[in-house]
Amino acid sequence: MDSKKIKRQRIFFVYPPAQTINRDDECLSDIPMTLPVDMMSLSSLAKKRGYETKFCDYAKKNETVYDFLRDLRVFKPDFLVLNVSAEKLKEDLSILTQARELLEDTVVITKGAVFNNNSYGILQQYPEIDIALRNEFELSFDEIIEYKNLKDIKGITYQINNKITSTPDRKTPDNLDYLPFLDRDLIDNNSYQRPDTKEPQSAIRVQKGCPLDCFFCTISSINGKNVRYRNTDLIIKEIKECINKYNIRDFIFLADSITLDNNYVQRLCRQIIRNNLKINFSTNARIDLINKETALLLKKAGCNLITTGIESGSQKILDKTDKNLNLERIKEGVKALKEAKIQIYACYLTGLPWETKETIKETYKFAKELNTQFASFYTASALKGTKYYDYITKNRLSEANCENPYIYPITRSYGLSSDEIYDFNKKMNRNYYLRPNYILKTALEINSVTKLKYYFDTFIKIIKNDF
Ligand code: SF4
Repeated sequence: MDSKKIKRQRIFFVYPPAQTINRDDECLSDIPMTLPVDMMSLSSLAKKRGYETKFCDYAKKNETVYDFLRDLRVFKPDFLVLNVSAEKLKEDLSILTQARELLEDTVVITKGAVFNNNSYGILQQYPEIDIALRNEFELSFDEIIEYKNLKDIKGITYQINNKITSTPDRKTPDNLDYLPFLDRDLIDNNSYQRPDTKEPQSAIRVQKGCPLDCFFCTISSINGKNVRYRNTDLIIKEIKECINKYNIRDFIFLADSITLDNNYVQRLCRQIIRNNLKINFSTNARIDLINKETALLLKKAGCNLITTGIESGSQKILDKTDKNLNLERIKEGVKALKEAKIQIYACYLTGLPWETKETIKETYKFAKELNTQFASFYTASALKGTKYYDYITKNRLSEANCENPYIYPITRSYGLSSDEIYDFNKKMNRNYYLRPNYILKTALEINSVTKLKYYFDTFIKIIKNDF
């Protein structure tokens, strides 16, 4: 970057044209989280330092690399920040190669979970990248745009004249109070809606980090094992800004697992209730840590949906995940949420190395018994940085010639091929929603035309197996 001596004024935040579920590094892979939370956070910091910022999600706009090149010519950014996903790494970064000539005076910064473990190798492959952000990227980014000397900025990998340098990791802060309010002027808020009500929906950062290190999960390597919450006063203030300035009352509370500290959750809920905010929100939680009191308070504060990873209905498989989950505790958590009338989105993961036809059947039986409002059966992907990835590599359980060295999307178990696992999931995803009792119960709960349309469209997709 030091060789690119220019007066920095404009920053262009980009979601590349490749379609993917989620570009933010969240334990929310089940929720199509298209809101560019991390870019909005960085834009907020940049504006505080007087920069002009712009954002484009080319996939959402159905635009191509040619539109990206056009925007680069017009906006002429001093910094380009690319949010990269592990899943689409090659496609995402290929746009830099195509834009090479337009980027001569632009500092290219990349951000994404994939850089936490592999930044050196990726920068070697892509000389167009000047700086890759690693952990606690907001703090590093702020120092970069403040022109601090790169060698003194922790948590980055950078290259100057093909010489690559990785600075030491950044120490995890004790809380999340350093995070700015998201820059909601960066986007058209009305185009990010809650799927079933079509109300504008935003996100609020609440918690990061997880002390566990589950077999398949990257969260502890991305957000650290240190569980950090954000000050509830700041959260209330940000919610009020959303209501008063943007007319947004629907939120996703971003958390790797909000219920790791029930006292905090209860305090936040009480504060929302006391302030009479009248909001709706969904969040991510460990189901076994939910108790009756927390569930009731969550409901009273406006929580309408909890997304949770149940993973398997086989205790044997659950034990292999290192998630420390127990089928009986799962049932109790589900019961508490159902009694509080909070909907549950249960996520199941099939295809881990020890999966058999019998364990998959146990999972489906358990899912029907829990009978949550939503359920998704996913095929496990092994991401670099997980124990799963190392296991697959060592035991050669990847079935495809995988072009992306940072993720094995097609793996098998010892007893089942990847095709068999995929077919099981397809059937379970379909059959779960086509149960007559489920259809009847859901139909009775529909209370608006918008919801009717949403459920009808979803139903048609399920019939066509198009999801
Ligand atoms: S409990 Fe496991 S799956 Fe959930 S965030 Fe922590 S490490 Fe990931």
